[in-house]
Amino acid sequence: MGLTIFYWIVLLSTFVGIYYLGTKTDLKLWARVIIALVAGAILGFIFGDLAASSKWIGDLFVRFIRMLVVPLIFTSLVAGVVSMGDPKRLGSIGVKTIALYMLTTLFAIIIGLVLGTLFKPGMGIELTGVDPFTMGSSSMSVADRLFGIVPTNPISSLAKGDVLPIIFFSILLGIGIILGGEKTKALGDVFSAAAEAVLKIAHMVMQMAPYGVLSLIAWVAGTMGLSALQNLFVLTVILYVGCLIHIIFVYGGLIRFIARLPLSNFFKGILDAQAVAYSTSSSSATLPVTLQCVQDNLGVKKTVASSVLPLGATINMDGTALYLGIVALFSAQIFGVELTFADYLLIAMTATLTSIGTAGIPSASLFLLATVLSVIGISDAQTALIVGFVLPFDRILDMARTVVNISGDATVSVLVAKSEGELNETEYRNESVI
Ligand code: ASP
Repeated sequence: MGLTIFYWIVLLSTFVGIYYLGTKTDLKLWARVIIALVAGAILGFIFGDLAASSKWIGDLFVRFIRMLVVPLIFTSLVAGVVSMGDPKRLGSIGVKTIALYMLTTLFAIIIGLVLGTLFKPGMGIELTGVDPFTMGSSSMSVADRLFGIVPTNPISSLAKGDVLPIIFFSILLGIGIILGGEKTKALGDVFSAAAEAVLKIAHMVMQMAPYGVLSLIAWVAGTMGLSALQNLFVLTVILYVGCLIHIIFVYGGLIRFIARLPLSNFFKGILDAQAVAYSTSSSSATLPVTLQCVQDNLGVKKTVASSVLPLGATINMDGTALYLGIVALFSAQIFGVELTFADYLLIAMTATLTSIGTAGIPSASLFLLATVLSVIGISDAQTALIVGFVLPFDRILDMARTVVNISGDATVSVLVAKSEGELNETEYRNESVI
């Protein structure tokens, strides 16, 4: 009891310190979020399980962001399409977006396979004593998901928060408003004002980010700790290194050499979103923050941000693909499965499709592992062992892959905006707004 009180005194003092840094020294939000990340990790390591007592602060923060997901996608996507004025442009944005999403996922899976082959994370691991973890068949096939894009009842999709049907309906509504001309112009204005208002709420909610992030990281560090990682140490390190390589070289390369924009602004601009992704392990929950960062800090116009990002949060999961590739090799090494070149291609293909079908929620891909493992002949019982082995520490792996997932969405939004002339470069280059 005494210790819990002590923990709370330390925690609240840290909160006050961070608040003070924000109000008195005018330290930017992203810098406060970084301080919160580090402080949270330290508190977690020192206080261990006690840090779980403040997890609710993080959960509350996540609820606030999630509250904004549906209103934000709906209003800003309709407003975005209307402001485009020409439905054909939507087609060109769509084609570029999907091509870039596929391309970056391909790079991710290659990085995963190369690292998994070079460092052999599964070598020498015995799975005796691991409790197998059997999964329900919650996964939907890619074909079902494609069909489900057309909502039979858009209001019910909005109520359930089904992102793809919402995207589909919003685009159609936007096109309808454009085609209606003068008669429907007022409706377009309503959507654009509503989008502005929701973004303002996102801005307010983000002021809570340092406290929410700190509480979540303290909980992860406190309840899982580094010792828990011993068994999975190599896998964890390889995944983190792979994620870093992908972010720095693939995304960095695209921004620097294809979009020809300075990198430091990009990474500073999306830091808040990365920190929220890291602490929540959910691309969907991070979406409002990603939207806000990309529009306010990187100058991507609503037209592009509102269509590219929600789609990305649903189908573009580079971190997940990279992870699936590494775990496939990890499992093959554990069970002594010899892989041919064709197997590598199969893994790459199924990992890409599975990553598209993965929901942007914590640990989603862990439950889809079976799809990838089955193509290289790993049985359901063996998969259950792998999942049982990885599950307890999956959060730490998930945090890294989610950061990659949302960074990829942001990268593609900048590239598409640049090529469509929808990037406000002055805003992108202006450090003071970040
Ligand atoms: N947690 C990830 C995300 O939300 C998905 C995954 O489990 O890989 O992006």
